[in-house]
Amino acid sequence: MYVVFSYGMGANGTAALLRLLFEPETRPAELVEDLSNLIVITAQTGDEFLDTAVMVEQHIYPLLAKRRVRMVQVARAGHYERDGIVVLDDTREPILCLTSGAYALLEELTSSATVAQAKDRKHSQKFKGWVIDQWFKTNIGDEPYVHIMGYDVSEPDRVAGDLALGLPNKRPWYPLVDWGWDWGACERYIFAQLGVRWKRSHCFECPFAFSVTKGGRERTIPRLLAHPYQAMGALTMEYLAVACNPKQGLIAGKQLYDLLADWPGGFVLLELFHHHLDDAEWAVYDVQRGFGSKPGDTMKRGRPARSMRPLVTGSRADMLAHLERAAGLLGRRLETDGRHWRVWWRRRGIYFPTVEHLLTAAPALAHDKTNPGFPKLWRDGLKATRQLELAI
Ligand code: SF4
Repeated sequence: MYVVFSYGMGANGTAALLRLLFEPETRPAELVEDLSNLIVITAQTGDEFLDTAVMVEQHIYPLLAKRRVRMVQVARAGHYERDGIVVLDDTREPILCLTSGAYALLEELTSSATVAQAKDRKHSQKFKGWVIDQWFKTNIGDEPYVHIMGYDVSEPDRVAGDLALGLPNKRPWYPLVDWGWDWGACERYIFAQLGVRWKRSHCFECPFAFSVTKGGRERTIPRLLAHPYQAMGALTMEYLAVACNPKQGLIAGKQLYDLLADWPGGFVLLELFHHHLDDAEWAVYDVQRGFGSKPGDTMKRGRPARSMRPLVTGSRADMLAHLERAAGLLGRRLETDGRHWRVWWRRRGIYFPTVEHLLTAAPALAHDKTNPGFPKLWRDGLKATRQLELAI
């Protein structure tokens, strides 16, 4: 029977994998004798911090190669499921940890001018769980297999969620839960075995990485400072999202930019970011949103939908000049919060349904996109707004 270890490259998975490699008596029956049917698989989101790749290459891949363990790296190939997955590497002699993936989560987010939502982990399933499931379907099919996951004893919700997911021939095993290990125990085990403090594994734009309570900011901001190229990705994504919707922000509506502005040394990154923006190709975007209302309550916002179109592209200066001209033609002001520029054609009302409509300028990374529910919400919102205007 195949035994597949989903390796997310964090401390939990690393500790569990090391123990299975170093202590044969902890292995499931299928692996006690030899490791030839063990497959370690990683789904690359494309946005993992580079220092994670370096740690994995230095400490984990040589151990796998020495024991001839099969290592597979996979990634999502595109926005749609029909685009499929890419097998980045499949070898018993792994060398490079291919964290740049294929179609990166950052590309997905910037193409729709949004940020990863801290409210749900749907994108995680889309870029990790779904990708690994596709690999299983092609490579294991209907054969039963043991699926090892590195959830620890403090994560019963994630274990319960995982039990409900996946293919019917999966037999899940959570070794850290069986061993009673939490994250601290994993970190200590890795340090005892390898002599290194394992860094957290996550995307550089991960909204969960900045939590105040668990010291997330103290860990993640210095990491961004040490990876300026990746920090540019996170800041650009946020800039674009906020330009199109002032209520956005990487950290639950708060902006990474502001966090860095107050952080010792953060200004260095922000200076770089301003140059990065100057060098980028920009676009003027036409952004329209329709908002429904909760049934029977015009004070409560219902489902929103958006239509977004890049109108013209060029240099930053050119796009701001276009925006200024548009403001003059519409008889509106070109408004700025100091970082973003917008011309508000229609602002959302306080009663729902309603609409909002703006022109803005930002890096030319977002695509022309209209949500399926937009035409109706726009029509209803516009009608309600006009009726209100007539009544006043
Ligand atoms: S952004 Fe965070 S939650 Fe989302 S896939 Fe990356 S690490 Fe996981």
